[in-house]
Amino acid sequence: MIKQKKQGQLIVVSGPSGAGKDTIVGKLIENNSNIWLSVSATSRKPRAGEEEGINYFFLEKEEFEQKIQENYFLEYAEYAGNYYGTPKEKIIEKIEKGIDVVLVIEIQGAKKIKDLVPEAIFIFIMPPSEKELLKRLKNRKTEAKEKIIERFNIAYKEMNEVTKYNYVVVNDELEEAVDKVDSIIKAEKCRVDRIEEMLVANQEEIIHEFLMENDFDNSPMTDKMKEEK
Ligand code: ADP
Ligand code: 5GP
Repeated sequence: MIKQKKQGQLIVVSGPSGAGKDTIVGKLIENNSNIWLSVSATSRKPRAGEEEGINYFFLEKEEFEQKIQENYFLEYAEYAGNYYGTPKEKIIEKIEKGIDVVLVIEIQGAKKIKDLVPEAIFIFIMPPSEKELLKRLKNRKTEAKEKIIERFNIAYKEMNEVTKYNYVVVNDELEEAVDKVDSIIKAEKCRVDRIEEMLVANQEEIIHEFLMENDFDNSPMTDKMKEEK
């Protein structure tokens, strides 16, 4: 009766470094084949274990700037001294095929997406506390002390922007946080503004067809009516 929009949704996930964005989204796509995670480009150097084309497309600063000139990015921003950007190419194709696309990006990039695609879903991942955020950054062992402090200072600015997002998920218990993000995406699919068409058949025709196809002789109502006779 209801034909819903076939297009996938654009989902933007932001939050302070160390809050658990990549961990949550990683789990989400593990269990959900209809979600595609966009791989960003960055001028940051790869961390141990990071792979080209899986975690990021790693570019030199000059290469990144060249791609900015070529209008290669849907959005890009500078964060902690490096460039980060979302390649445009595959996003429209995926959305048109009905696949949901997730962008894990910082807040300046999220603002640009809000201007370009206001109907996108904006989710902010919060750490349970500032202390826990520092602990996670330290335990991740990907940044030196100075870089951790730089990221923590940026985190303070970012956390003030939470009200510009549609949803906030506190990542205390990991499974619970993943479940919440999954539920948000599912609930968004049920929004009435995703209805493309209402197919309402003729009421009398439906009743007529129903009466013709069904035998009511043994129905309780008919028995009762028989008794009353
Ligand atoms: P982000 O992508 O937001 O920078 P990560 O996903 O890299 O953050 O997570 C930062 C660190 O915190 C990682 O070492 C990760 O394993 C850990 N982590 C993520 N979620 C939780 C959680 N709910 N409880 C404890 N540690 C977590
Ligand atoms: P990291 O160096 O920890 O991988 O990423 C630093 C920050 O850059 C994180 O907040 C991450 O979400 C963000 N980021 C990653 N890719 C992009 C992107 O394509 N665009 C923007 N604007 N931010 C990004």
